[in-house]
Amino acid sequence: MDLKLFIPGPVDVDDDVLKQLSKKQIGHRTQTASDLQKRISDNLRKLMYTENTIILSTSSGSGVMEMALRSTTKKRAAVFSVGAFGDRWAKMGEANGVPLDLFKSDLGQPTTPEMVEEALETGKYDVVTVTHNETSTGLMNPVHEIGEVIKKYPDVIYLVDAVSSLGGAKIEVDKAGIDICLASTQKSLGVPPGLAVASVSEKAIERAKTVENRGYYLDLINVVNRVKRNYQYPSTPSTQLMWALDYKLDKILNVEGLENRFKRHKRLAKVVKDWARKHFELLSHEDYLSNTVTNIKNTRGYSVVKLNEELKKHGFMISNGYGSLKEKAFRIAHMADRKEVELVELLKTIEKIWKL
Ligand SMILES: *Cc1c(COP(=O)(O)O)cnc(C)c1O
Repeated sequence: MDLKLFIPGPVDVDDDVLKQLSKKQIGHRTQTASDLQKRISDNLRKLMYTENTIILSTSSGSGVMEMALRSTTKKRAAVFSVGAFGDRWAKMGEANGVPLDLFKSDLGQPTTPEMVEEALETGKYDVVTVTHNETSTGLMNPVHEIGEVIKKYPDVIYLVDAVSSLGGAKIEVDKAGIDICLASTQKSLGVPPGLAVASVSEKAIERAKTVENRGYYLDLINVVNRVKRNYQYPSTPSTQLMWALDYKLDKILNVEGLENRFKRHKRLAKVVKDWARKHFELLSHEDYLSNTVTNIKNTRGYSVVKLNEELKKHGFMISNGYGSLKEKAFRIAHMADRKEVELVELLKTIEKIWKL
């Protein structure tokens, strides 16, 4: 039986989007390929509220995280982490020899503008990384407010991981002053995995030009130059996934509409949160709860592994707690194209299995 995925990526993909993957192969140096990239860029700019250059990467989102951090850090990066995906920036920096300091918040607590201000006042940093939506804890950081602080430091490049929120929550890239905002296709965008998207500011590009050892495949300048020249890539991109993304962006913008999409995500998040408060507790701070994934403390100590085995029989799948939170918490994702009726059915099924 096909399972309805309530996991925080990869998400279910609509059949009409999947169908785009079977289009006849095109050459990656053709006008058709350039036109495809241009259309995707124009639509992503609308989704991200930005005028910045748009690049894609035939890698998952982690590829662009690595590209962004390595290509823009000249002095030292301040990595703000509220969980496993925030820590990932630090691991990447260490693996690439990028100097950095890690600023970790307590479990379920956000990165605050005050924390960022305190770090930047030292004058030690020229890059800040923030996770918009920490998928491991279900927390959404105030990236716009943090952006207001960073604007006071014109030499600082602002990198935002919006992997699990882009397409499910409003992120106004230019207003927030985000230099590189990146996401994967397999989360709130509702496209199969294998492609990542990012907006890149001129400031980030100018900085990267001065950074040595940017790598090769993930060299920001190499990719940006080619995209700016003729909407193509230095190496062969997944044109199949580009067709799927192109089709999906059109649906997001012109069929559902951005505001409706963000509202639907908020509504679904509220349904899960209300349910979680009634039967359990939420893991993260009430003022910073995610629109796309909810992390629920397993206060009753039931087996999440067994729950998922039972749910499978009913055609559902949820996620266990991430890393050390396994069995201590469980996660219900409500991202991309999940519908409220499906979510309500899932919650009722959990109530039956666990006799809530
Ligand atoms: C999934 C996820 C990642 C990693 O993305 P990949 O596409 O698997 O590389 C990074 N950050 C966050 C917040 C995520 O949810």
